[in-house]
Amino acid sequence: LGSELDEQVAIVTGASSGIGEATARSLAARGASVVLAARREDELEELASSIEDDGGDALVVPTDVTDDGDIDDLVQATTDEYGRIDVLVNNAGLMPLAHIAEADRETLQDTIDVNLRGLITLTHAVVPTMLEQESGHVVNLSSVVGRFLQANSAHYNAAKAGVKMFGDSLRLDVAEEGIRVATIEPGAVDTELLDHIPDEEIQEGVKEYVGSMDALAPEDIARTITFVVTQPQRVDINEVLIRPLDQV
Ligand code: NDP
Repeated sequence: LGSELDEQVAIVTGASSGIGEATARSLAARGASVVLAARREDELEELASSIEDDGGDALVVPTDVTDDGDIDDLVQATTDEYGRIDVLVNNAGLMPLAHIAEADRETLQDTIDVNLRGLITLTHAVVPTMLEQESGHVVNLSSVVGRFLQANSAHYNAAKAGVKMFGDSLRLDVAEEGIRVATIEPGAVDTELLDHIPDEEIQEGVKEYVGSMDALAPEDIARTITFVVTQPQRVDINEVLIRPLDQV
């Protein structure tokens, strides 16, 4: 195990699969105590056992980021157990791509609620602890589509562009208090994200597009996030756009 993050506490949302799972493993391997938040408790327990088998420390807190009570419980459970929060990785997300005329209202609302509203609400709940510590690191998962357009994705693009703007604006308010804010913008990463696209035709089309390239692995993003949060305090990496070489 590394030791750059010894004594540090990191909350990772969406830790039950993909980028969140890989990030939790990576931060734990550097010595951080990781708080695993997502809805699927079994997956979180499995990950916690695996991290602990490798000599790390993990706390499972089943969380739906669209539930304000769950958000409060997550922060409370973390401070009760560890007394601090050094890193918040706002990674929980979903990408139910759909044409605006075909999407149901619930799909549109879920997209904003999980990717943007939940992220803002959890950050709001965590920042007071970081302000008290006069240090902390908020890492937000936006996307390549927070910057570039994609068809059947107006709601998802809006959410991810919102994540980027939220992070940049948040930084203005908290940087002088010692809190760093990073926005990570991955291109195609091989995870379960595409499996939840409701429209079969759109899902097949996106899978074909992603399959045509040598997509990133979740570990590639985890390594990037780990790099961002292991810099000296004066180094505030604000934005990372990271794509497969052949995603052009
Ligand atoms: P996955 O589908 O593998 O992971 C998504 C995670 O979000 C799961 O752990 C899921 O857990 C969690 N999640 C979904 N809804 C909720 C909720 N309501 N409350 C709490 N957790 C929730 O996909 P990725 O790893 O790819 O996605 C991670 C992030 O990366 C997302 O924000 C995504 O938008 C972003 N991203 C991904 C890209 C890619 O190509 N894969 C590209 C650019 C950005 P559970 O179901 O257990 O709640």
